[in-house]
Formats: sequence, C-alpha cells, structure tokens
Amino acid sequence: MKLTIVYDNDVYTPKSNLKPDWGFSCLIETNQKTVLFDTGAKGAILLHNMNQLGIDPGKIDTIIISHEHWDHKGGLQALAGHVTKCDLYELTDECPFSSLHLHHPKKPVCITEKIWTTGRIEGVMDEQSLILQGEKGWCVLVGCSHPGVETILHAAAQRGDITGLVGGLHGFNNFSLLEPLAYVCPCHCTRYKKKIEKLYPATYLLGGVGRVINI
Ligand SMILES: [Zn+2]
Ligand SMILES: [Zn+2]
Repeated sequence: MKLTIVYDNDVYTPKSNLKPDWGFSCLIETNQKTVLFDTGAKGAILLHNMNQLGIDPGKIDTIIISHEHWDHKGGLQALAGHVTKCDLYELTDECPFSSLHLHHPKKPVCITEKIWTTGRIEGVMDEQSLILQGEKGWCVLVGCSHPGVETILHAAAQRGDITGLVGGLHGFNNFSLLEPLAYVCPCHCTRYKKKIEKLYPATYLLGGVGRVINI
C-alpha cells in the first residue's frame, strides 16, 4: 500500500514545484482502491500538487474527510469536478456535489479489507481517522487528532496492533505513546515535530508534500 502526502504545511522535497500550504491531504493507493484522505484548504493547490506528482484526480474513487475544518475540506469543491462515481465519507449529512455519493456513518466502515475508518470519535472537534493494514501491521492516518492521539490509537487498536502513525498531531505532547511504533510521520499542525524527531530518531519520518510512505 502506497501513501503519498499531497497537501501539507511543508514540502518534503524543497527544490520541487510542489506547494506547501496550511492543511493536510494524503492519497492511499492499493490494487483495489484509490482513496484520498482529506483535501487540504485550497482546491487549486491540491490539484497543482497532484499534477506535479503525476496523480490523476479522476482515479480517486473514495474520499474521506476527517473532520469539518476548512484546512481538510476546502479542496473538496474543486476535486468534485474531477471525479465520477466517487464515494464520500464525511461526518456531516450534507453534500452539495452530484459527483459524490455521501455516506456519513457513525460506526467504523470497511472501505476494503485493508482500509477501515475508526468511525466518529468525539472530542473538542469530532473526527474520524483511517486504519490501514500494511505489510508489517496497521497504520493510523489522522487529520488533526482533535479527540487526542491516545483516544484515536485506542480506537484504532481494535483492528490489531498499531505499528505506524501518519498525519497531524494537534496539541500532542504525550510522547511516550509513540514508543511502541515502528514509524511515525508527524505532519501539518504537529507542534513538536523536532522534539519527536529527537526522541525517536530511528522511527521518525519527515513529512511534507511529496513524501511517499510504502507500508
Ligand atoms: Zn488541520
Ligand atoms: Zn482541525
């Protein structure tokens, strides 16, 4: 399974034409599905970065929005014009785009046998995360982690042992939670990226637009 970060506050390869911007989006490619987790803030930047990375937005068949903040959902409108017959999993029950088929379940959803949502997790801001089965174990993909990393990891652990964590870790400072993980890629709104890198240099992965993680 291949993860590509397409929208982030930073760029992974500085000398590229990729654009950084506040927000987050990550593409997940498997043999069966092409899933986009979050859409960043601005559609033009999302589509620009996809183009630069050789990603055809028309191939996306599933979109998951982690939560209702603009920096995760803002690119949806522009993207809706490029997809056909695409499923949208969101925490709201409104979808103004005819190309998207809305689902808003509260419980965990199986997208494929290797891709699950956590379902709605309540918090300061309700959020859903993705749980992805890689070769070595389950990876948790998060938007901002508003309900708390510990709560999200606990919910995700119902699928099996969690070996990786990728995404925005807003307000996160309970660093020992990362100890058992084989890799962690803190992105977007994570305040303590440097601290996490210092504490876990062997398992830390630098994020940013253009970063590819094969799990
Ligand atoms: Zn955010
Ligand atoms: Zn947020």
